[in-house]
Amino acid sequence: MKRVDVLIVGGGPAGSTCAYELSKRGLKVLVVDIKRRIGIPVQCAEFVPIQLYHQFKEFFPEGSIAQRVENMLSLTPWGEVVSIKSEGFVLNREVFDYHIAELAQKHGAEYMLRTRFVGFEVKRVYLERIDTREGFWVEADFVVGADGPRSKVARLTGEATKNFLTTAQVSVPLKVPTKDLLIYLRHYIPGGYGWLFPKGNLANVGVGIDPSYPINLMESLKILLEELKAEGLIEIKIIKRTGGWIPADGLLPLVRGRVVLLGDAGGFCHPITGGGIANAVMSGSMAGKSIDKLQDFEEEAMEIFGPSLWRASEKRKKYMKRWDNLKEIIPKTWIAFEEYWI
Ligand SMILES: Cc1cc2nc3c(=O)[nH]c(=O)nc-3n(C[C@H](O)[C@H](O)[C@H](O)COP(=O)(O)OP(=O)(O)OC[C@H]3O[C@@H](n4cnc5c(N)ncnc54)[C@H](O)[C@@H]3O)c2cc1C
Repeated sequence: MKRVDVLIVGGGPAGSTCAYELSKRGLKVLVVDIKRRIGIPVQCAEFVPIQLYHQFKEFFPEGSIAQRVENMLSLTPWGEVVSIKSEGFVLNREVFDYHIAELAQKHGAEYMLRTRFVGFEVKRVYLERIDTREGFWVEADFVVGADGPRSKVARLTGEATKNFLTTAQVSVPLKVPTKDLLIYLRHYIPGGYGWLFPKGNLANVGVGIDPSYPINLMESLKILLEELKAEGLIEIKIIKRTGGWIPADGLLPLVRGRVVLLGDAGGFCHPITGGGIANAVMSGSMAGKSIDKLQDFEEEAMEIFGPSLWRASEKRKKYMKRWDNLKEIIPKTWIAFEEYWI
């Protein structure tokens, strides 16, 4: 039976950052992922704040940055536009994710792709090769669940995320280049928002809604696309489609014996903005540095990330389950408004 110090389920930003930190310290690390190639398909609007760049410059190789961003403009249903500074980058995430995995491999981490995590026994993990259906066991001292929003590692070890935002996104030609993130707060996007994130002469345009509303996600995206076309911002020529789930409960209990949850699997994604790349990287880095002191990791993570994520999740529950009096609800629940922070 194969034996490693740490088995990491999921080679996204959380899992690969953790693999990078651990392998730098000389630990024997195996990363498994169901994907054929790390980074593909991209299920993301790809914005990261500039602070991530300053903290992890080595994760941004040439080609990983599609463009620079300066501000975020939030467009309300009552015609007000609120601008806040929001320095950062829209990434080429397939390059970014792949590069972190490459760095981890350079330091000795092993990656097994097209390999699925199936389940546990004490100190043993059962995996399956997707193409041959061949199953096998790996022995590991620690297991990292970095398997994204619908984490099976979380489900099999206790509490898992129950509430999500559901999203749909397309890539379309952008007619007017911009350095702003555009946020559309609209009646037809209940419990969430629409976005246009510029990517050179393209734009990632999407909607994220609370799935408890009886509204068709694709219909909502179609209305947003028509609105953007009418403003002269985009052409409706769909180049790529994607989507996915955004965890909306905030942090879960992260440490479960010798198992630790990171990134979306642990609820590190922001329940209102859906921003999760930076927190995934940071959680991976922190856990990689203290895999033998997991209680310390959990305490530190709860202290740094917990309050703002739970607060956002509480706001969702308290104010976003009705989507009628938007002039009252939106300032309380969208980060561009002072009222959000009170
Ligand atoms: C439409 C959309 C737009 C978004 N836009 C932004 C944005 O602009 N900025 C931002 O910061 N965040 C954004 N996010 C959130 C961001 O994509 C996530 O927070 C981020 O990818 C989390 O990284 P992660 O490593 O935790 O998980 P992931 O990137 O999801 O990686 C998890 C990995 O685990 C693998 N996996 C899953 N199950 C198994 C299994 N059983 N066995 C083996 N492998 C498995 C998957 O294949 C995947 O590679 C967006 C999300 C969506 C859906």
